[in-house]
Amino acid sequence: MAQLEPCPFFIGGEWLQPKVAGTPVFNPSIGEVIAECPVGTVTDVNAAVEAAHAAFPSWMETPPVERARILGKFKMLLEDNFEDLVRSNTREHGKTLAESRGDVKRGMEVVEFALGVPSLLMGEVLENVARGIDCEAIRQPLGVCAGITPFNFPAMVPLWMYPIAIACGNTFVLKPSEKVPLTAIKIAWLFEKAGLPKGVLNIVHGGREVVDALLTHPKVKAISFVGSTPIAKYIYEVGTKHGKRVQSNGGAKNYVIIMPDADVENSTRGVIEAAFGCAGERCMAGSTAVVVGCAEKFFLPTLVEATRKIKVGPTDRETQPDMGAVITRQHRDHVLELIETGVKEGAKIPADGRGVKVSEAPNGFYVGATILDHVQNGMTVAKEEIFGPVLNVMHMDDLDKAIELANKSFYGNGASIFTRSGKAAREFKHRVNCGMVGINIGVPASMAWFSFNGWNESFFGDLHMQGREGVQFFTQQKVTTSRWFSYGEGDIWHTEKK
Ligand code: NAD
Repeated sequence: MAQLEPCPFFIGGEWLQPKVAGTPVFNPSIGEVIAECPVGTVTDVNAAVEAAHAAFPSWMETPPVERARILGKFKMLLEDNFEDLVRSNTREHGKTLAESRGDVKRGMEVVEFALGVPSLLMGEVLENVARGIDCEAIRQPLGVCAGITPFNFPAMVPLWMYPIAIACGNTFVLKPSEKVPLTAIKIAWLFEKAGLPKGVLNIVHGGREVVDALLTHPKVKAISFVGSTPIAKYIYEVGTKHGKRVQSNGGAKNYVIIMPDADVENSTRGVIEAAFGCAGERCMAGSTAVVVGCAEKFFLPTLVEATRKIKVGPTDRETQPDMGAVITRQHRDHVLELIETGVKEGAKIPADGRGVKVSEAPNGFYVGATILDHVQNGMTVAKEEIFGPVLNVMHMDDLDKAIELANKSFYGNGASIFTRSGKAAREFKHRVNCGMVGINIGVPASMAWFSFNGWNESFFGDLHMQGREGVQFFTQQKVTTSRWFSYGEGDIWHTEKK
């Protein structure tokens, strides 16, 4: 077994290797343990929150332009260390190097966005709200904010949160996923090297105990969460009950509609990328293709053929497969069970990834790319987020029925349509009940300058992550109304003295 990577806490500017039991972090490509993630306690959370609280007054007073300069250096260090971060990301997650490049790049774009914080924080002024009276609104930071992140984007999701929070003058405690803590640590280390003062960013590892301690700590003002819907709901309910602002992103099931006039090559490529990118472990995965009318005749055979060709294998070496492993052995078994259930409940399986063999890495956590065809709405696989390389295919007679189907979902992250008709695309965009829409493009995750815009049970809260809503979430407005008198005007003492 290779030597385990260190997995320290980062509290008050110190890297601490706690001597407590940890949970295994795997390299999913080969199924080997590469680190142990320590399980933090309430005491660790208290120490991190106190460090963040102590750092807050001075960081809040640091001029936004100075904060932005530190973010600028951070961005340069991320660029200089890009390939190392990419390899770390792939090693602990299992996605391909190309997918990890996307993961790190998307995170870096949030830093680029946050660099504009002097402009983003600019307030509003109205002169003469009444005669001689002016009114101004400014934005101030909240204090200590906390982030809890999932396994599927080890670099990007933590970076959705703290660059914006910190740019706005807050301090931060991050609890990364215990399955992928290593890239988050490397990125925080680069932020420290960029000159971030001690205590502004802290990391505590662990599970529920750490999360609960953050949710209930009186000095934590805001919680950002990304993960599965049941936990997202729990975070929102407990966090708001304890008086915190909460933005909580949950799971998803996203529909991709293929109209009879869709370009076959582009729609096939779009659906394949949407369904099987990152082995389907994306909250923006296009996990259900809805073929409309005669689209089934020409689109489906091409899709099935392309899916059967997807090569699965280890991603931690130079020769890259099309698709990597899923995150853990348990998750692989869960995905396989769901495929089994789908077949038992009546789905056809024209592309079957259950028996995939990867001879160069026999202990890796692999599931081959799978299509379940003729899925019906009541089936388990239609309801549950599979979060693996499994594409459901459903058949509908027309666009109205396809939109109706997509709108029955209780999730609401994204949906896409492939068509040559502007009318159909407009109709779809207007009526579909979700927050991120793609037209002739696989389900698109918003870039950093826009909010990551889940609806329904894919999001709990009022202000989304990233973009202007991200800045609003991490700041509170102060409105000052002022009137100034001339020297001595209305001053009784002054008048009487004369
Ligand atoms: P998860 O919900 O299991 O875990 C997310 C975080 O919550 C982790 O840090 C974990 O330690 C913590 N956690 C887990 N169980 C907990 C509990 N009982 N109490 C308190 N904290 C707990 O999610 P995951 O498996 O790491 O990630 C996959 C999920 O995340 C999928 O459902 C996916 O759709 C979702 N996701 C959503 C978005 C989005 O923006 N909507 C983005 C990425 C991933």
